[in-house]
Amino acid sequence: MAKVAFLGLGVMGYPMARHLKARGHEVVVYNRTTAKAEKWVAEQGGRLASTPAEAAAGQEFVFACVGNDADLRQVTLGPDGAFAAMDKGAVFVDHTTASAEVARELSAAAASGGFGFLDAPVSGGQAGAENGQLTVMVGGEEPVFAQAQPVIMSFAKAARLLGPAGSGQLAKMMNQICIAGVVQGLAEALHFGKQAGLDTEAVIDVISKGAAQSWQMENRHKTMAAGKFDFGFAVEWMRKDLGIALDEARRNGSQLPLTALVDQFYAEVVAMGGKRWDTSSLIARLGKK
Ligand code: NAP
Repeated sequence: MAKVAFLGLGVMGYPMARHLKARGHEVVVYNRTTAKAEKWVAEQGGRLASTPAEAAAGQEFVFACVGNDADLRQVTLGPDGAFAAMDKGAVFVDHTTASAEVARELSAAAASGGFGFLDAPVSGGQAGAENGQLTVMVGGEEPVFAQAQPVIMSFAKAARLLGPAGSGQLAKMMNQICIAGVVQGLAEALHFGKQAGLDTEAVIDVISKGAAQSWQMENRHKTMAAGKFDFGFAVEWMRKDLGIALDEARRNGSQLPLTALVDQFYAEVVAMGGKRWDTSSLIARLGKK
């Protein structure tokens, strides 16, 4: 069993750290808002650290799952950041959805400090984190991945090394690009069906058995038709992720016309008060016309 720290006990981090503890690892937690870390320790045991550096000292693995690039820089390189305290030969595993650029920067900083770094964003949402069934897309070096993979599998059903530093984040961008287009297509189909006077529930029952089937269709069509969005993966997080993908596309010369359009649609959803709504709320802006 390993000595591990977990930085960031949010919607995702809280249950991920819980799975590490349940597997028997020795877990130290840090959270910016201390009350959450106190609650975690009261429920799970383990030890609370008051800074990322204090959490990281003496650990074999340090996991993080914070909001964005700036948050990640703060908990790694900022005052009392984890990187200055990492042991030589240890591994820092970052599960934040962030840019490939920050992943490469942190990987280089880790190498000069004598420890490993993996960018390892996740897919599977809150339910995946709660059930320990996340999918992990990893960038970094093979020996570092081999070292960390057994511990990562405490909260994952699959973890795969996809290339050098930054590759995990690039893979997560592909994931989000796929989702953006699929959700907009589903929203348009449901909107169209309603305008046409169809029983959309019956139509989905049939077409979900054919080529139009998708995770979004299976899991979101009912709530979309009912106009319920108060759950799931927040629009403001999706906008962050699409922004990261669009920035990267400008750098690598790829064309993402649909992603750019859907990002603008999400901006409209935010203007409707929906920044914390689930991403399936794209249909709400069609309903209002
Ligand atoms: P969340 O509930 O908002 O939690 C964010 C965590 O990061 C909190 O513990 C927060 O601390 C901490 N944090 C933020 N900024 C910080 C800073 N500057 N310094 C220290 N700690 C900081 O978010 P989440 O839903 O767990 O998502 C975390 C990451 O996973 C994001 O990158 C997100 O895009 C990604 N993700 C989320 C989902 C999902 O379904 N939620 C799915 C896949 C990937 P406080 O408690 O003090 O605010």
